[in-house]
Amino acid sequence: MRFAERIDKLQPYLFVEITKKIKQKRSEGVDVITFAIGDPDIPTPPHILGKLVEAAHEPANHRYPESEGLPEFRQAIADWYGGRFGISLDQQTEVLPLIGGKEGIGHMALCFIDPGDIALVPDPGYPVYSVGTMFAGGESYFMPLLEENDWLPDLDSIPEQIAKKAKVMWLNYPNNPTSAVADLDFFEKIVDFAKSYDVAICHDGPYSEVAYDGYKPVSFLQTKGAMDVSVEFHSLSKGYNMTGWRVGMAVGNAEMINALMRVKSNLDSGIPQAIQIAGIEALTGSQDCIAENNAIYKRRRDRLVEALRGIGMQITPPKASLYVWARVPDGYSSADFATMLLEEKDIVVTPGSGYGEYGEGYIRLSLTLPDKQLDKAVDRLTGWRLPAAPVR
Ligand SMILES: *Cc1c(COP(=O)(O)O)cnc(C)c1O
Repeated sequence: MRFAERIDKLQPYLFVEITKKIKQKRSEGVDVITFAIGDPDIPTPPHILGKLVEAAHEPANHRYPESEGLPEFRQAIADWYGGRFGISLDQQTEVLPLIGGKEGIGHMALCFIDPGDIALVPDPGYPVYSVGTMFAGGESYFMPLLEENDWLPDLDSIPEQIAKKAKVMWLNYPNNPTSAVADLDFFEKIVDFAKSYDVAICHDGPYSEVAYDGYKPVSFLQTKGAMDVSVEFHSLSKGYNMTGWRVGMAVGNAEMINALMRVKSNLDSGIPQAIQIAGIEALTGSQDCIAENNAIYKRRRDRLVEALRGIGMQITPPKASLYVWARVPDGYSSADFATMLLEEKDIVVTPGSGYGEYGEGYIRLSLTLPDKQLDKAVDRLTGWRLPAAPVR
């Protein structure tokens, strides 16, 4: 068989390797504690499941859904954006339900990228931005996210000829993996850049509801002029503990939404309708689960940050997102440190280098593990004297 080049170019998906390692240790009887995967451990709230079960019994929902989603679901999304961010969206033209944010992000590349085209992609970053670009035959120009710039890309460092050639820029705040946040002043600079160079902006914002200490993340679409140049990807996965149901949305610029809808309608047949009905309940029903989840994550964050500081690591506690992003002690690489934690303490973390070369020197720890597991990990770390860094 002769596979396409894109298959050879694919790195194994980061978590596939980690999952393999965990399985192996567990099969040896080891009690492995994993901070590796950002997937809420808390179940989907019962009122949402109730609607899903009810809708599953309705024969109309057993048939093909429409690619563009139920109008009632699109309206619920528009209303939610209106209530949460004060943005008014037309459900017919500016809202598109997705089979999870990841699906829409991957397919959006097909709307902009022809062979040889350039996408501006953050590094470290969620892998789908660059993989989608590669699938479409394009090249990613990686924008380094550096601690000294508060993990925001430095637009002035993008070479003029790259900025002119680029067709799309990917951004993600609150950020995975760095947990950094961005404000509207920064987003205004992005809109100016987009208009100067005719670059479309795709902002990925699935963590807007996961925040701590009174902080409220903004939507990119609140930026003046953003509707002219951008869409925002969002998801019910993180805020409503619905990763397994696969439901998200793209909202914003009508031309961009239309292009994505045209791609999708040729590839998929939309979100199962019962799940869209559960999605309506998530967005329009009680929002209590958001504060409840955040209180749980905050407690975990505080315990974990304290334990990591106890072993001598420098950490800024995240204001938002599900992740603690921690610089590894001097002398270790990300991978060395992750391997050492697994070997010495049976604790799994994600090496920052898995998110791009500028993630080197950091590890990511997800707060989505049960309290008991987290407490056990904290016990394992407490009082631990780190071994000396490997000699090179
Ligand atoms: C979780 C996540 C998504 C979307 O997840 P879905 O479950 O596919 O909706 C998108 N972007 C980032 C950065 C994420 O961490």
